Amino acid sequence: MILMKKNLLTGISLLLVAAALCCSCTVNAATTKTQTGTARPVSIPKKTTAKSTKTQASTSKSTTQAATKSTTQAQPKAAAVSTSGYQNVVTWGKKHGMRAAWTQKNKTLRLSNDSTTIVLNIGARHASINNIKIALCQNVKMSGGNVLVSTQDINTALEAITNPRKNAVRIVAIDPGHGGSQPGAKHSGKAEKDITLLIAKEVRTLLQNKGVKVVMTRTTDRTMDLKTRPQIAAQNHADIFVSIHLNAASADANGAEVFTTTPAGAQSTTPDSGSTAATRGNKNDAANALLAYHIQRQLVQKVQFSDRGVKRKRLGVLYDTAMPAVLVEAGFISGSKDQKKLFNATERSKIAKAIAEGILSYKKTVESVKPTPTKSNTAGKP
Ligand SMILES: [Zn+2]
Repeated sequence: MILMKKNLLTGISLLLVAAALCCSCTVNAATTKTQTGTARPVSIPKKTTAKSTKTQASTSKSTTQAATKSTTQAQPKAAAVSTSGYQNVVTWGKKHGMRAAWTQKNKTLRLSNDSTTIVLNIGARHASINNIKIALCQNVKMSGGNVLVSTQDINTALEAITNPRKNAVRIVAIDPGHGGSQPGAKHSGKAEKDITLLIAKEVRTLLQNKGVKVVMTRTTDRTMDLKTRPQIAAQNHADIFVSIHLNAASADANGAEVFTTTPAGAQSTTPDSGSTAATRGNKNDAANALLAYHIQRQLVQKVQFSDRGVKRKRLGVLYDTAMPAVLVEAGFISGSKDQKKLFNATERSKIAKAIAEGILSYKKTVESVKPTPTKSNTAGKP
């Protein structure tokens, strides 16, 4: 209950922050109480540095993606794993056949093999994986010549995306955001609830055409609370849950982003209620990140959305959800560039196609993983 009060208080200030960037769905989560039946406290790893968790400036263009001259000498060290919940990321990369090189000495590290390129900036709280921005829980550090990434970030981001676990996707739950008396964001005479429903229905058709069974949380303009949506997915045995929303802000804010719930003990990318307790959604942290990555990648590559990244936030439809779950912010209803994609039927179809392709790409990836010996996926185990 104390937590609830705190949430309500911080929720007020959060409204001011979130309203500038996100649709009301992301605000709702701040005032959604934690499910007492499932939430359990977790011990938060003691941070050795980075007390001032610098929030990622949403407008900051990822310098990780800036092509920089390769300074091939001075290879980063592959050394013993560090203490305090961090690992030497070069050592981790070697396990996956990744070569490490500074693209900017002591500043930007690139790990790569034939299929994957990871770029890390010292001091930043995000990574770039195959040119898609992925928010991390802790800053990338450098100590004694070693580049360190938190074990949690190795497990829930780097390992999760580059070395996925075997899984199956037979039934997909699609959740068109808002509905009925809750229009979501409104702009230029359009309401988020209507556009999300149009996109969701197209995603459904595209998936069904590929033989995937689809469960919709709503197919009409009706009011639904946040809890009901993942419940419908669970009742219908959905293997993954994809909620579709739109952002709203000023006309010059454009781009797509995909949220997962925040790993236990960590602060969200955009700070939320302050609670860092583990919740049911955390059992799927790795799959959540992988699903988010595949959808975001399609949105950026196929619809040319600006890449706002895969982000973490304990949203109402994500944190207590039983299956891998993401919330897609498919552009800004208020954005001068994104409106051209959202308000035109042909362009909007491209968004639906990208979301469907992202889901299918995730499905193909997890279903094609070969069963591995028991040692697999233990890299980076605390
Ligand atoms: Zn929304």
